Amino acid sequence: MSQPAPARNGMLSFWRTQLDELDSHRSTPELPKECDVLIIGAGYSGAATAYHLLEGNPFPPSMVMLEARQACSGATGRNGGHIKPDLYNTCSSLAPVYGLEAAVEMAKFEMDQVKAVKAVIEKENIDCDFSLTRSVDPLLNEEHCKKVKAAYDKLREAGAINVQDVHFTPKENAERVSGVKGAKGCFSFTAGHLWPYKLVMHLLRLVVSRGVNLQTYTPVVSVSDEPDPVTGAWTVTTESRGSIKAKKVIFATNAYTAGLAPAYAQKIIPVRGICSRIVTPKGKNSPHLPNTYGLRWSGWEYDYLIPRMDGSIVVGGARRRFYSDPKKWYNTTDDSQLMESAKSYFDGYMQRHFRGWEDSGAYTDQVWTGILGYTTDSLPHVGAVPSKPGQFIMAGFNGHGMCHIFLTAKGIASMILDGKPFETTGIPRLFKTTPERLNSRRNKILESVPTREELMAKL
Ligand SMILES: Cc1cc2nc3c(=O)[nH]c(=O)nc-3n(C[C@H](O)[C@H](O)[C@H](O)COP(=O)(O)OP(=O)(O)OC[C@H]3O[C@@H](n4cnc5c(N)ncnc54)[C@H](O)[C@@H]3O)c2cc1C
Repeated sequence: MSQPAPARNGMLSFWRTQLDELDSHRSTPELPKECDVLIIGAGYSGAATAYHLLEGNPFPPSMVMLEARQACSGATGRNGGHIKPDLYNTCSSLAPVYGLEAAVEMAKFEMDQVKAVKAVIEKENIDCDFSLTRSVDPLLNEEHCKKVKAAYDKLREAGAINVQDVHFTPKENAERVSGVKGAKGCFSFTAGHLWPYKLVMHLLRLVVSRGVNLQTYTPVVSVSDEPDPVTGAWTVTTESRGSIKAKKVIFATNAYTAGLAPAYAQKIIPVRGICSRIVTPKGKNSPHLPNTYGLRWSGWEYDYLIPRMDGSIVVGGARRRFYSDPKKWYNTTDDSQLMESAKSYFDGYMQRHFRGWEDSGAYTDQVWTGILGYTTDSLPHVGAVPSKPGQFIMAGFNGHGMCHIFLTAKGIASMILDGKPFETTGIPRLFKTTPERLNSRRNKILESVPTREELMAKL
């Protein structure tokens, strides 16, 4: 693939079946010639950053937001709706590599996110089906369960994890407690779920009403190599609507960032993911799952699942059907079609995995695909773009942006408005985009692809 750019059309996701009035909005018929802050991308990152730049600010900067397709049509409009701090898995794998302090900082940031999102939803009265819940994560492979539990215990013994919130149920009760067949152990902790499109569109309505100039269907094709020598402004050029001079540019472009910021080529990779909506003939009278779930078989194989108030269930994952063949999912921006091999994965899913659902008649109502921004070190790139004064990035959220973006955007806003150094923003240190990270040749994404032997051992 050449430079990644959003495909013309993505397939329909469940979240985009009720479109907001701003979905194809253009605040003005022509683009402004200049602005203080230009945000590229109208997903969760773009919307949350604009929100924080305006929030409680009597002298807000002039702002333009350019979006290649419809508002919230990227990963945010196609995800699993799960806000799920990862308090036992990622955290315990980060500690041996980056140190305990950095791992704990990350876990705390993720936990704080759930509370921060709940708070803004209540403050702004956002109708987005938010539910505060617990995620129940059954581990379905004995060896993997032992490994994860041992790593978690190390963190716990070091006093690192908020054990008051995390609970582990051992094998003898794991299936009964989780309700998931074959569970060899199960973690649970506070999490949330919501309708991501509705959250983002509400934020966009707020910021547009406060003066942000939103322009959908306006792909950006380049950002100048150098700033203007006199004004310091960057020239941002669109495909067919001219260019804008901006003092500050924010790449909220997730999977597509490398198309505009070449330093991120081979560092943020567009990767295809898959999600589904399962319904039952009984609708609201179907058995209700009290929690959200993460079913985990190994480091690379897991599904995630949220129950919705309308009786449906949104499930994502299905890696077993495609992950061993990177041609199907690696380095692609095509979200207009499904991976054939994964399409039927969700059929009979509830009956297969959940106790008591055998006669539910649950069936797959919709399956869709979306493009995630995976990073080669599995960490988002956030902060000032090295050697590009006035350019900022928040991108590469892997499969976990719902748990990172709101407070990351707050930190980026404070860097832009108050000139705060990254280290004082509250954003985890591991997110900082640095020349060292950009120069690293490691690719953890491809390293995680199972070998044929590993795959055969599982089946
Ligand atoms: C199938 C799937 C399931 C997922 N499930 C979950 C989950 O349950 N929980 C979780 O935490 N995370 C999940 N994720 C990941 C999560 O959705 C992302 O981390 C998050 O939405 C990223 O938000 P964003 O705003 O940074 O990116 P996006 O929502 O992708 O927004 C980026 C925007 O930038 C625009 N853009 C890019 N380039 C240009 C350009 N050149 N010109 C103009 N506009 C441009 C794009 O069109 C897009 O609208 C999932 C993702 C997918 C695809």
